Amino acid sequence: MVCEVCGKMQEAAGKCPECQASMPPFSALRSWAVYSGPVRKAILRLKYMGDIALGEVLSRPLIELVKQLSWKPDLMTPVPASLARRKRRGYNQASMLALPVALGCGITYQPGALVKTKNTPTQVGLTAAERRDNVRGAFQARRHYVEGKSVLVVDDITTSGATIRACADALLRAGARQVYGLTLARAVLENVV
Ligand SMILES: [Zn+2]
Repeated sequence: MVCEVCGKMQEAAGKCPECQASMPPFSALRSWAVYSGPVRKAILRLKYMGDIALGEVLSRPLIELVKQLSWKPDLMTPVPASLARRKRRGYNQASMLALPVALGCGITYQPGALVKTKNTPTQVGLTAAERRDNVRGAFQARRHYVEGKSVLVVDDITTSGATIRACADALLRAGARQVYGLTLARAVLENVV
């Protein structure tokens, strides 16, 4: 079972202790798979080896997941990469997932809803608290796209939920009505590359 809000694995139904203590800025966060085995390999290929066709393949289970959830987002946006990272890699792997999911679910795709304004170091090897500090204030949302809207943010992996949380903070500040998070995989801190 998973926490009904943050999607973290737990024994019981309902909210996890952290969400009971302090609700995250997003309404819900869900992931399709655990970050290990073939899913991990596929994400690494998508992310570091330029195998962008994999995005379309990996979007299929996400489309099914979105269809099962009762979310009714007005638009979908990928977690943006910093300009430096985009230039180095040539693409943003989150967009490679978000675009086909938006098309498959009939949800408006708006890649310009969020911008990354801070060049953050990689989250790899950081604790949950360090991750939160690392991405705090790293994103800004464009009000004219998101005001009054329910927004679904898409990323490849979530670990502590810090990135989706920072995106949700930015979106709500810019007037979004509600934010959901969707990632392909969920990692536990210990098994992140
Ligand atoms: Zn929770």
